[in-house]
Amino acid sequence: MKRILVTGGAGFVGSHLCDRLIKEGNHVICLDNLYTGTMDHISHLLSQPGFEFVEHDVREPFDTKVDQIYNLACPASPPFYQEDMVGTSKTCFLGALNMLELAKKNGARILQASTSEVYGDPEMHPQPETYRGCVNTVGIRSCYDEGKRVAETLFFSYHLQHGVDTRIIRIFNTYGPRMNPDDGRVVSNFIVQALKGEDITIYGDGSQTRSFCYVDDLIEGMYRMMENDDFCGPVNLGNPGEFTMLELAEKVLRLTNSKSRLIYCPLPSDDPTKRRPDISLAKEKLNWQPGIKLEDGLVKTIDYFKGII
Ligand code: NAD
Ligand code: UDP
Repeated sequence: MKRILVTGGAGFVGSHLCDRLIKEGNHVICLDNLYTGTMDHISHLLSQPGFEFVEHDVREPFDTKVDQIYNLACPASPPFYQEDMVGTSKTCFLGALNMLELAKKNGARILQASTSEVYGDPEMHPQPETYRGCVNTVGIRSCYDEGKRVAETLFFSYHLQHGVDTRIIRIFNTYGPRMNPDDGRVVSNFIVQALKGEDITIYGDGSQTRSFCYVDDLIEGMYRMMENDDFCGPVNLGNPGEFTMLELAEKVLRLTNSKSRLIYCPLPSDDPTKRRPDISLAKEKLNWQPGIKLEDGLVKTIDYFKGII
């Protein structure tokens, strides 16, 4: 039984990760300040003997005995990470620093939940890990994008300078049950709007693309990366299926049998025009690729939202 710290464990991805780690028989310490996460996501785990919840902010140092750390604490939805931009950058940097110090002290392995946002608005398509990105340092997404980039740098520096056993994954748009209905991200927005019969908000002309990975597939890749003894990354984890936002809206309307109309809203600045992961490295090093098609994952997610709204 390993002692595993999951920061951001009460969030969307983090709560699914806690489920998986408990299922594998580990002792899980779920740390969260409940900024975007909620106790509802982990209430079913509180009675498990191997699970503990600690309300804490990763911007402050934290001490415990651990074998592994998954560092996920950070708001991921643009409206939330832009609500307190300075706070977001501090979470990225100080959170990574504090958790790396903890890993160093314990000789623990530590995995950073990085993001496809490190590629910014990419000029290379699809994006391999070797692509260095096209990121604006002074835009509304910068607090998050540059925060995540410097966190990767800190991970690399702790690895080289202090020999810390680091792992970096770059997560591409992930969706599934336990997304917050008010989260603001596209999959949850479209499903909630369709189920309520409200207008579907297409930002810009809807021709921008994203590649959507179902959360169970992501968790499998994340787990494999942590358990891999000789590959530090960074590695892309995402589903290479690429869709425009108009295509996504059409699928959601069809699967919910909704009569909602599409309305067009201004495109937020620096919104990447396209995004698709090159997952050759994940296939080679982790023998991982996603198995859940967008429509199948949307059906599961729609069922979840039907239950909560
Ligand atoms: P989320 O907002 O649902 O979860 C983030 C969790 O971190 C929440 O529980 C929140 O309360 C907690 N948190 C935020 N700031 C904190 C702080 N200072 N101290 C302690 N806890 C804090 O987001 P998510 O989609 O579950 O994303 C999880 C991680 O994965 C994030 O690091 C995000 O950047 C990364 N990621 C997610 C996606 C995606 O599509 N879901 C894509 C790329 C990267
Ligand atoms: N988007 C949209 N309508 C919405 C929410 C988002 O058209 O109600 C678009 C958004 O402009 C972006 C894409 O959907 O081009 C994905 O947005 P999301 O916030 O989910 O993720 P990110 O931009 O961080 O990839």
